[in-house]
Amino acid sequence: MGHLPIYLDHHATTPLDKRVLDAMMPYLTDRFGNAASLNHVFGWQAEEAVELARADVAELIGADKKEIIFTGGATESINLALKGVAEAYASKGNHIITNAAEHRCVLDSCKHLEKSGFEITVLPVRNDGTVDPEQVRSAITDRTILISVMMANNEIGSISPIQKIGEVAREKNILFHSDIVQAVGKIRVDVNELNLDLASISAHKFYGPKGVGALFVRQKNPRVKLVAQMDGGGHEKEMRSGTLNVPGIVGLGKAALLCKSEFDSNFWHYFNLRNKLYEAVVTQLDSIHVNGPEIETLEALRKAGTANEASKRIKRLPNNLNISFEQTKSESIMIAMKEVAMSSGSACTSALPEPSHVLRAIGISDELAKASLRFGIGRTNTLEEIEFVGRRLVDVVTKLRSEPQHVHSS
Ligand SMILES: *Cc1c(COP(=O)(O)O)cnc(C)c1O
Repeated sequence: MGHLPIYLDHHATTPLDKRVLDAMMPYLTDRFGNAASLNHVFGWQAEEAVELARADVAELIGADKKEIIFTGGATESINLALKGVAEAYASKGNHIITNAAEHRCVLDSCKHLEKSGFEITVLPVRNDGTVDPEQVRSAITDRTILISVMMANNEIGSISPIQKIGEVAREKNILFHSDIVQAVGKIRVDVNELNLDLASISAHKFYGPKGVGALFVRQKNPRVKLVAQMDGGGHEKEMRSGTLNVPGIVGLGKAALLCKSEFDSNFWHYFNLRNKLYEAVVTQLDSIHVNGPEIETLEALRKAGTANEASKRIKRLPNNLNISFEQTKSESIMIAMKEVAMSSGSACTSALPEPSHVLRAIGISDELAKASLRFGIGRTNTLEEIEFVGRRLVDVVTKLRSEPQHVHSS
């Protein structure tokens, strides 16, 4: 076996691509200027680099560069989108629609808004984790100002019908935000095709640096208004004050460029390795459950032609696998397999692990949620690694199931 430990937790974060680091390096050293210092060459260099990055980020999601606001990551983008729209459109209405499988930063921003008088509808999701556009339509009232639905789920990989939900929003004249963090670089994202008005991304989820992200804010048809959530020098069109993180933004831009240019090969790589891992497990273990949409076969997908077309048809992120292993606990599997970095379906926020809100939202039992593992395949994973992980999983699960005390305590 090559290099241990093996990293299979790419939904949590990705390594910085070496080419991204190379692009950033000059802006951490010689080219240290403030992008707002327009009186000298140091400032001009920084500003030029920021504007090039803005164009590359826009290009990745089919936006115009004027529609990209740089932030400190997707949590900030999402807070700005939800709270900024809520404040700006408060005279029009006070109702926001979201759903139970969103990332915490969406749900917690909504809770915050609820405390200040907004009404929040948290829709249930279907048992594959996707949001039903007709349910969105039924939840709309004449007070609704914003709909927020994630494009792809970070735990179970479900891809919601964003284009259809966007059509519903358009028809009713309601703004539509999507958390597209897990989607970019994995499936095709075009803000115009999808009818998005706002969208949030994060560099460290696609091989860029941590602590930098962007918010797409539509500038025409309609022109979206936002109330800034941070006061200061009026950077980023008055929407996000604070000296720009130039090296971070350069890294975000380079990461976006690489996602765009290497989309096809990445897509098939993710898909192929994810399916190999799934096959290794499903052919050798009984009593396992896939959480989220079913695993599509490569044969069915190849018919779609290009990665771009294929990615529009799939219901599940190509790099995601989430499985519950009956009669086990995810903690026990992870302890037995410390050489593999993966994630469990329960968060240890307290002494007792709590099943994740996403697994609860798709209606699986607490027992199965506590027996679940999430695998997130990345660019640098190899077939050899995946085969190793498959073998180890089969051995470890088989062994745990044969230990009587384990069966009784699960
Ligand atoms: C990671 C993640 C976020 C938060 O992004 P940060 O840049 O780490 O704040 C939001 N939504 C989803 C779906 C994520 O996976």
